[in-house]
Amino acid sequence: MDTRSGDVAELIHRVAVLGGGIAGAAAALRLAQGGASPLWITGTPRAGFKPGEHLSAAALPLLKELASDALLRAEVHRHAHGTYSAWGSDLLVERNAIVQLEGPPTVLDRAAFEDALATQAVTAGAERIDGDVVDVRISGDAWEMILGDRTLKVRFVFDATGRKAIVASKFAPRFQADRLTCQYALFTCPAQSTPRPVTLIEAETRGWWYLSVLADRRAVVNFYSDADVPGFETSHLSRNARQTQAISAFLSDYGYQISGAAHRIACNSTWLAPAIGPGWVAIGDASAAFDPLSSHGMTTALWSAIQAADAFVAQDRAKMQAYTDNVARGIQDYLQARARIYGQEQRWSDSPFWARRAASRQLAPEPLDAT
Ligand SMILES: Cc1cc2nc3c(=O)[nH]c(=O)nc-3n(C[C@H](O)[C@H](O)[C@H](O)COP(=O)(O)OP(=O)(O)OC[C@H]3O[C@@H](n4cnc5c(N)ncnc54)[C@H](O)[C@@H]3O)c2cc1C
Repeated sequence: MDTRSGDVAELIHRVAVLGGGIAGAAAALRLAQGGASPLWITGTPRAGFKPGEHLSAAALPLLKELASDALLRAEVHRHAHGTYSAWGSDLLVERNAIVQLEGPPTVLDRAAFEDALATQAVTAGAERIDGDVVDVRISGDAWEMILGDRTLKVRFVFDATGRKAIVASKFAPRFQADRLTCQYALFTCPAQSTPRPVTLIEAETRGWWYLSVLADRRAVVNFYSDADVPGFETSHLSRNARQTQAISAFLSDYGYQISGAAHRIACNSTWLAPAIGPGWVAIGDASAAFDPLSSHGMTTALWSAIQAADAFVAQDRAKMQAYTDNVARGIQDYLQARARIYGQEQRWSDSPFWARRAASRQLAPEPLDAT
């Protein structure tokens, strides 16, 4: 931070990280580890379950770089050894973790993991402020961040505010490749029930289902479809889950019942181009948010936080440019992988959900503002 001379000394922070998710926590931690003493504005803490718990094994080396790998040893997380999918046929096929050389993925208690990463960032020296940035203005060669009745001045901003990208989306065009949304709910089973710790994926005519058993035996059930596919009320999630094959059988076998209300959240494939600009860089979902089928959102959040923070600490423009080039390449790789994986399901080529994914192999992504 620095101060300007004048009647009133003005505090200007060197760098701020906006966003309290995995990308924000990892960037705050990495910057602090590099001696950059970031201001970390986490947003307003939200109560309740946050979906997205399958952490790819590719995240392990990144967590090691952050000296955070021990966080995965907490008992609230579990190794994801058994993942089965009915995709392309009715057959439930195991994707065995033994063949994954990096090790198995982890099913996280997401809130516990984010809290632990946040504690590590603060211990390392990040200055944490809870609250939403309600407005951002450019003032000379600094940013003014408005939080309630406070105004903070900052020279460089890491935008880790997820799909909102509250700074970056003002300066870079945003694109989207689909309108995927997720309905999700938690299910609980009776005390005497001992459910197998599995993850199940099941395609159907209007989209696809996902079930994962958490370490505490609760199961999260997600249904993914496009926002405009009709006839699928969030309040009917439990009833609709009972119409599936594998997921329905699993819920019945272990006596699972929905616990609380079902919710809905956007998870469309969307990205900014470019992911950097003068005085800002976008990381995590703010730079590129992927279909959860990729199971890579959290890993990308960690990767992008480390890359961008290291470039900032080194004050290396070439490194920062390499970061944004890698984001752009990653988006192309992701779009190809997405087309390939959705292309493996051919049973409902007439249904809007699957027909759109088949067509998207030929179509250019649309600018988000045009929709
Ligand atoms: C239904 C669903 C399932 C998913 N499943 C998986 C999965 O199994 N595996 C996987 O790897 N990924 C999964 N993902 C993706 C993963 O959750 C995201 O990629 C990841 O959360 C991105 O982290 P982030 O920190 O960039 O953004 P977020 O987690 O969205 O965090 C954004 C942060 O910004 C803060 N914020 C917002 N506005 C402001 C503001 N005005 N001022 C200050 N702060 C603000 C918010 O409070 C929040 O803390 C899933 C996503 C969804 C929606």
